Amino acid sequence: MSIRQSLGPSTGAAPIPRPAAGSLTAANRFGGLPMPSLEWNAQIAHETAHLYERIKTVVPAIEWPFFAPYVKAINALKKERNAVILAHNYQTPEIYNCVADFVGDSLQLAREAMKVDADIIVQCGVHFMAETSKILNPHKIVLIPDRKAGCSLASSITGNDVRLLRAKFPGVPVVAYVNTSADVKAEVDICCTSSNALEVVESLGVDTVIFLPDLYLAKYVATQTKVRIISWEGACEVHERFTAEELRHYRDGDPALQIIAHPECPPDVIAEADYTGSTAGMIDWVRKNRPRRVVMVTECSMADNVQAEVPEVEFVRPCNLCPHMKRITLPKILHSLVYLEEEIVIDPTIAEKARHSVERMVNLKR
Ligand code: SF4
Repeated sequence: MSIRQSLGPSTGAAPIPRPAAGSLTAANRFGGLPMPSLEWNAQIAHETAHLYERIKTVVPAIEWPFFAPYVKAINALKKERNAVILAHNYQTPEIYNCVADFVGDSLQLAREAMKVDADIIVQCGVHFMAETSKILNPHKIVLIPDRKAGCSLASSITGNDVRLLRAKFPGVPVVAYVNTSADVKAEVDICCTSSNALEVVESLGVDTVIFLPDLYLAKYVATQTKVRIISWEGACEVHERFTAEELRHYRDGDPALQIIAHPECPPDVIAEADYTGSTAGMIDWVRKNRPRRVVMVTECSMADNVQAEVPEVEFVRPCNLCPHMKRITLPKILHSLVYLEEEIVIDPTIAEKARHSVERMVNLKR
């Protein structure tokens, strides 16, 4: 059952918040540093050669002279600023393999964010991920290299929509996918990711839950549990573009081809898959099974990142890119570290309520 339409129009796309004008930001307090030299020369080539080794199967040698000066400057600035970079599995190979300190899916990054010892977290992912890190680290500086890196799921629902849902279904607990704003997380009972959605729904011990905002993830969870799911009509603009027909076309050409899909895909796409799981689950599946040829039905960069690790596996790439994830680039990461921009700021009352929902998820016994 999906109830978005029955509530009438959504209260509007969730805006991406900005620090209030005149607020004392990290950039005001600590100031910028000189922009490092970005010259490509023999010394940079020598010092970064071991990093290029990691990505040489997916990044042409001709591109490395552009990336390498940024990689060197970012890694030096991380030490100077006492910063760490948390990068999502959908980041491009030069970010994922050459400057990230921790990589993973949303759940793994949230768990890492809880353990971070550094003063500054640079989140290479989308805005809701940086907000989650800030929610878990209210006293640290959390930066996102491009504030406009949003998400079609996060922008499909507002905190006010959740309040309307609660009024319509009194007493029914609300589970929110982490792909939501802090404002929404503050209104729900518990968060989940695609890694633990089923576990979270069943942990509540009730016969009905409201599950938002991803309609397809809700449908997938509903196939795995007896708990009745009331869903919202949000969708990931990347995963909803895959079709069962294109997957059958790939399989027709090679019946032994393995298809692994993310649960944000439509149900007929999932029905074609040999395995369905979160990005971390998909990566583990490839590491364990080492298929000869595989299609990863998810954002395109992940195949490049896994390919760098398992060069013997052939990846068939239906290349659907997330335009929001692709806003994060090496030049923007460097800008973030030099000027301490763009800082994530959350109203402390909202952050406190949202922290309860995120920590309840992270602390679920596995
Ligand atoms: S891939 Fe989909 S769910 Fe992930 S950030 Fe992009 S739009 Fe959001």
